Amino acid sequence: MPTAKKPAAKETPAKKAPQPVAQVRGMRDTLPEDQPLWDAMRAKAKELSSAYGFERIDTPVLEETSLFVRGVGKQTDVVEKELYNFETSGGETVSLRPEGTAPIVRAYIQHGMFNQPQPVKLWYVAPMFRHDRPQHGRYRQFQQFGCEVLGDGGAVIDAQLIVIGYLFLKELGIDATVQINSIGTAESRANYRNALVSYFRTKRNRLSEEDKKRLLKNPLRILDSKDPAIQDLKAEAPQIVDWLDEESKTHFMHVLEYLDELGVPYQLNPYLVRGLDYYTKTVFEFYANSQDQELAQSSVGGGGRFDGLTELLGGRPTAAAGFAMGMDRVFNLMKATRTAPEPKQSDIFVAHLGEQGRKRALAVFEELRKAGISSGEAFGKESIKGQMELANRRKAKFAVIIGQKEVLDGTAIIRDMDAGTQEIVDVRKIVHELQKKLSK
Ligand code: AMP
Repeated sequence: MPTAKKPAAKETPAKKAPQPVAQVRGMRDTLPEDQPLWDAMRAKAKELSSAYGFERIDTPVLEETSLFVRGVGKQTDVVEKELYNFETSGGETVSLRPEGTAPIVRAYIQHGMFNQPQPVKLWYVAPMFRHDRPQHGRYRQFQQFGCEVLGDGGAVIDAQLIVIGYLFLKELGIDATVQINSIGTAESRANYRNALVSYFRTKRNRLSEEDKKRLLKNPLRILDSKDPAIQDLKAEAPQIVDWLDEESKTHFMHVLEYLDELGVPYQLNPYLVRGLDYYTKTVFEFYANSQDQELAQSSVGGGGRFDGLTELLGGRPTAAAGFAMGMDRVFNLMKATRTAPEPKQSDIFVAHLGEQGRKRALAVFEELRKAGISSGEAFGKESIKGQMELANRRKAKFAVIIGQKEVLDGTAIIRDMDAGTQEIVDVRKIVHELQKKLSK
């Protein structure tokens, strides 16, 4: 008799393990081990800006897209290719800020800062966003430290800004050189632009496709071109210094004199134009004198004068200048040359034994914190052995140990971790006792 075929066991589809969520391209995490270098950069930024009379400003990450289109310029790479812009559900067209200057000028106008005594000096450390091709030293989110001076057209301001940028790098252990140029006023630059276009038009067949586009849209950027085939063309091209108006020339001479006086090393670079439209007169960039070609080739910071920007954004004419330092590149340079400082350890470790001990130890930990004594703990652990091992690993000088007996007696044990000796103290005097021991 044929046996009835057993129905095949219903196959349960193998449960797929969820895939880890990938990080967005071009974004980076800053892990705990890298925080000491970031802390050092932020502290230096704060120290130098307040020493030079700057006040901190924070602007939102999101701005109206038109701010950057009008301020930075429609034909610039930053706006044309790299802007993170989108429409909100409310129908606003907004952008993640790609740079800090236009938002600060917007805030200066909006909050009537032109009514304050001039100049207004502002600084920031903030994330910027550019949808650029990610590579080493180029990220889609990066931090900038920047300083802006609004309401002063003097050459001494340009020099002072350069000094702050230079000292920022120097005092963080980075030897850098400043490259500097003047691109004149909007009028003198327009004349120069015409001369440059006439020159490159006659050599058009030697230009790359990218440079041909630049010739139409933003001819000054051809001077930035790294294309080896046109380096000799560039050398023969008209130079901006010959087209500068008298005022820009004198201004530039003064900036250089002040830099000489302050001992800041600089190189004149007639090809330096900077990527953004808003610059006038002085433009500069910082380059690290690094052995590592990759690190030495890209600028760590840059800036210049932007006397026309406030008016362009609807404010009254206001002379202004500033710089922005790329902290991620500074970080890469620091990391390449020095080891991170050891994270600061606490001298005290608060250990507990049993539930009653844990409760009292929590209170003691809090008391120590209020008294300014930072301590380590492992309140989640049960074993005292494990806690002592941790205290040793963290190089604590003293452990405070509280168990059930100590809770009942109103005491605490202080263990000298090096000597291995212990003493019992009145728990109400714990802060005093530890202060005494730590000051020895
Ligand atoms: P910029 O005003 O575009 O010259 O930017 C000033 C500085 O910001 C540069 O010198 C870089 O150090 C830094 N920077 C600009 N773009 C990026 C990026 N995509 N990733 C990391 N740093 C950047």
